[in-house]
Amino acid sequence: MLAMTIPEEAFQKYVKAGRIAAKVREHMRQMVSEGMHVIDICEKAESLTRENGGKPAFPCNVSINEAAAHYTSPPGDEKVIPEKSIVKVDVGVHVDGYIADTAVTVCFNPEYENLVRAAEDALETAIKTLRPGLSVASFGSAVQKSIKTHGLKPISNLTGHQISRYSLHAGKALPNVFHLSMSRVQIGEVFAVEPFVTVPDAAGKVIRGKEAHIFRFRKRKSLKNDYAKQLLNYVEKNFRTLPFSKRWLKECVPARYFSTAFLELLSSKSLMAYPVFIEASGKPVAQAEHTVVITKDGCHVLT
Ligand code: MN
Ligand code: MN
Repeated sequence: MLAMTIPEEAFQKYVKAGRIAAKVREHMRQMVSEGMHVIDICEKAESLTRENGGKPAFPCNVSINEAAAHYTSPPGDEKVIPEKSIVKVDVGVHVDGYIADTAVTVCFNPEYENLVRAAEDALETAIKTLRPGLSVASFGSAVQKSIKTHGLKPISNLTGHQISRYSLHAGKALPNVFHLSMSRVQIGEVFAVEPFVTVPDAAGKVIRGKEAHIFRFRKRKSLKNDYAKQLLNYVEKNFRTLPFSKRWLKECVPARYFSTAFLELLSSKSLMAYPVFIEASGKPVAQAEHTVVITKDGCHVLT
C-alpha cells in the first residue's frame, strides 16, 4: 500500500512501535506538571511502554530548560519539574528491535510558548518536505527557514537521524540547518525527525554537560571484576546496542558491588556514556520529534 522497500513484517513492527510511542507521548503530555518528580515521569513512560507490548528503546528523556536532550533520572533522583520551565519528554519504543522515537515539549512559561510552536511548525515543514531523492542539504535549509520565520534559532549541532534495527543513530543525519552534503534520502529509509529551537540571542548550539545518566554497550573487553562481567552480560543480552539507564540494572548484581562494577565498565570502555546536552549560552530549548518512513511520494509518520 505504501509502496516501500521495507519487508511487510518489519514494517508492521515499526507501525506497532510507532503506535505505542505516540500513546505514551500523549500520556506524558497530559501528565507532566510543575513540581512533579522527574523519576516518576521516566518510570511511568517506561512502564506504559511495556504494558502496551513494547520495550523502551532508550530511557525516557526529561530535559528541562537549557538541557536540550539526554537527561534521564539516575536511581533515587530527587529532581522535580521547576515552575515556569520548558520540558522536553522524549520517548523511544522498540518492537523486536524496530524503533520509534518521538518527543513533545511541555511548557509552563508563556514566554517560551513560541519556541514550542516553532519546533512543531518546523517538524510539520520537515514532514511535508521529505520525499525520495531529497538532499539532506535542502532538508536542513527548509527546517532552518521555518524556524527563522518565527524569529527564532535552530540548534545547529543536534540533528535527526536514520534508524535501523537495534540502531538508534544509523547512517544518515538530518540537520536542522543548511549543511553541505551530497547525501540524499531514499525510499524505505526510516528517520527520526527532530527540530530543536532556541531564542534568537542564544548560541544556537549544545555542549556536553558534566552529567551522564544514559549508557550503551560499546565493546566486549576483558574485565577483572566478576560483577562487572555479570553486568556487561546482562546489558548485552537485554539492551544489545540500545541506550539504557542504571535504573534498569537494579536487580542485576548486589547493590553494594554495583558502583565498582559499573565504574570498571566505563573505564574499560565496555560501555559509552551519553552526556546531557546543554544549550551553550544557557538559553531555553524546545523540541518536537516524529519517526517517519520514506514512501514513494513523501513520508509516512509512524508516531
Ligand atoms: Mn528522541
Ligand atoms: Mn531522536
